[in-house]
Amino acid sequence: MDTAKFTTAEEAEVRRAVGAGEGAVCPRCQVTMNRRSLGGGSFGLGYARRREWFLCPGCHRSVIFDLKRGTRN
Ligand SMILES: [Zn+2]
Repeated sequence: MDTAKFTTAEEAEVRRAVGAGEGAVCPRCQVTMNRRSLGGGSFGLGYARRREWFLCPGCHRSVIFDLKRGTRN
């Protein structure tokens, strides 16, 4: 089964829009993408990495953001 992916340029646009606080809109479908937070998950890692996953309800392409600590100055 193929997993559809954005092109690098499309993914960059989604990242830019989210970073600008505009929210994620699929560059192909022009619909708002669903956001899910992925928790740290495993115990015992010693740190929690926050991730957010944006999924397009139209074409089912997705982008995962790693939200690293200390990048928000
Ligand atoms: Zn889409």
